[in-house]
Amino acid sequence: MPVTIITTPQHILHTNAHHPEQAARIDAIMATLHANPITGATMQVARMADWDCIRAVHTPDHVAWLQRRCDRITALSDLTADTYITPDSVTAARQAAGAACDAIDAMQAGQQAMALGRPPGHHATPGEAMGFCFFNNIAIAARYAQRHHRLQRIAIIDFDIHHGNGTQDAFYSDADILFISSHSSPLYPFSGNREQMGQGAGHGTTLNIPLQRLSDDTAYLAAYQQVVIPALTRFQPDCLLISAGYDAHWDDPVGNCALSVTGYGQLMRLLIDAADQLCDGKIAAILEGGYSQRALAASVHATICQLAKQPMLTDSLGQRPGNSHGADQSIAWLRTHHPLLHDAKEIFS
Ligand SMILES: [Zn+2]
Repeated sequence: MPVTIITTPQHILHTNAHHPEQAARIDAIMATLHANPITGATMQVARMADWDCIRAVHTPDHVAWLQRRCDRITALSDLTADTYITPDSVTAARQAAGAACDAIDAMQAGQQAMALGRPPGHHATPGEAMGFCFFNNIAIAARYAQRHHRLQRIAIIDFDIHHGNGTQDAFYSDADILFISSHSSPLYPFSGNREQMGQGAGHGTTLNIPLQRLSDDTAYLAAYQQVVIPALTRFQPDCLLISAGYDAHWDDPVGNCALSVTGYGQLMRLLIDAADQLCDGKIAAILEGGYSQRALAASVHATICQLAKQPMLTDSLGQRPGNSHGADQSIAWLRTHHPLLHDAKEIFS
């Protein structure tokens, strides 16, 4: 299966060697991809996202404020308590958003796709930068898919260990975009309660799966098999977009879960199989977090192997003991309470 890997050379304009979200993350991924080529995978340099595409998600004030902040500094500075900014951060962020849009184009051309951009995006709300994120790359890609490719119903699945609060905010009232997030709880940004299910026309199109700390491959697979896949089947999306964050790996210095590289590969396999069954195989992965560079590189490689339908490498990092029941409470609650999982009547017609 042909896979397009979208690269973002401008990402190096936004880096801080003393911060976990730094350029060396991408360097580690690229080194692993070059050392272990994947049959059928080709690389393509990302475009810069059009401002119109960014403004389809973000407020004009947010975009102008970020550009002003970049223009006023001459060196690395703090933007928020946890997020740094450089004079060219907006350029890097704009290419990361462009990479996500390029992944949509590749998907629509019949390819599997993964966008390797940074800074990540899923914490950025329509009006606020936070959690290392400036522009919400996957939200911009979802709107791009609707506007430029006439895809209507889009499912976003976020397996980063942190709740994708920005993506949730962008689509909380939207009936056509299903946002599913599995995340450790309690953990930054301390949102993503399972009771948050969307509002208005979007009631039922937000699905949060809080997981206990140390949730392992067994816990994650249970959540995906018993909640995510049934919800996707019910929603009947036109494509799947994956917020691919790798900080749930046991080796991650920021996260507190116990997923392995093999587990990440198995999650992707489930999602790819769902895309094959539900939406002609249309699926694209967009990089979010992941701060153990060796786990990140191996997990991205495993993801692309799955997209290419090629065998994964041996998981040299292996497994660590974890909590195999870390999803049980959320699975039971959601299967009783979430409209996508329990209602007999058709709520999405
Ligand atoms: Zn994260």
